[in-house]
Amino acid sequence: MTDKEQMNLFALTPSEEPLIELPQAEGAPEALPLKKTSRLTKNTAAVASIGQVSEQFPNLDVLREVACNCQKCPLAATRTNVVIERGDRNAKILIIGEAPGEQEDLSGLPFVGKSGQLLDKILQSVGFDTAKDVYICNTVKCRPPNNRVPTPVETTTCKPYLLEQIRLIDPKIILLTGATSLKSILAEKLSITKVRGQWYEWEGRLVMPIFHPSYLLRNQSREQGSPKWLTWQDVKAIKAKYLEIMGADSVIADDEEF
Ligand code: URA
Repeated sequence: MTDKEQMNLFALTPSEEPLIELPQAEGAPEALPLKKTSRLTKNTAAVASIGQVSEQFPNLDVLREVACNCQKCPLAATRTNVVIERGDRNAKILIIGEAPGEQEDLSGLPFVGKSGQLLDKILQSVGFDTAKDVYICNTVKCRPPNNRVPTPVETTTCKPYLLEQIRLIDPKIILLTGATSLKSILAEKLSITKVRGQWYEWEGRLVMPIFHPSYLLRNQSREQGSPKWLTWQDVKAIKAKYLEIMGADSVIADDEEF
């Protein structure tokens, strides 16, 4: 498949239908209803620390149970579901989004609306299986009203859950989608447009900020240098790094369905 053909795979116009039937994380109970490879950069600005975790969970099931009953910030009052995870709890790639949107709030699963469809297609375009190769979560676990950006109080309050997810999943690679997860994990002052596509080392893990899929939905151009084109470069670099880390045996067949 040529580069052009491959990029066409995720140059999509997502369907109107949300992917509400996507499986949640392997081994996870049902969502509770209602209630720098070649340019590895060591970024010394990385400030967040696993040491900030104020609460430790023995496993992800306990984390899920506690988080699903969480009342620590104002988002608890307006949520339908607490949105914890989807993907595979054994995955080596962990993806962090911003916050649940409407579809996520209704389904209890992260990234199942239009942004999630695009995220899946981006990953699938380089042969990742989104049910097996990645674990997906958000910076905050409850939907902010009207999909507004979570406040600093909300992200800070929710952060122990996120840090514990990272500790318990123990990924080799973390992808930060958009400014909110970038701020939460790496630093306040980094601009997503400046740092996307760069590898950072954080807490012994490789971290790459990438554009949020919702930003790509608003910027459909595939011209060289466009956000979509840049993301295409990023996802290829992520795949290459993944293969390098996992070894040749784990080569994922390039997706042929598209
Ligand atoms: N956007 C996010 O950042 N996360 C979701 O789960 C959905 C949309």
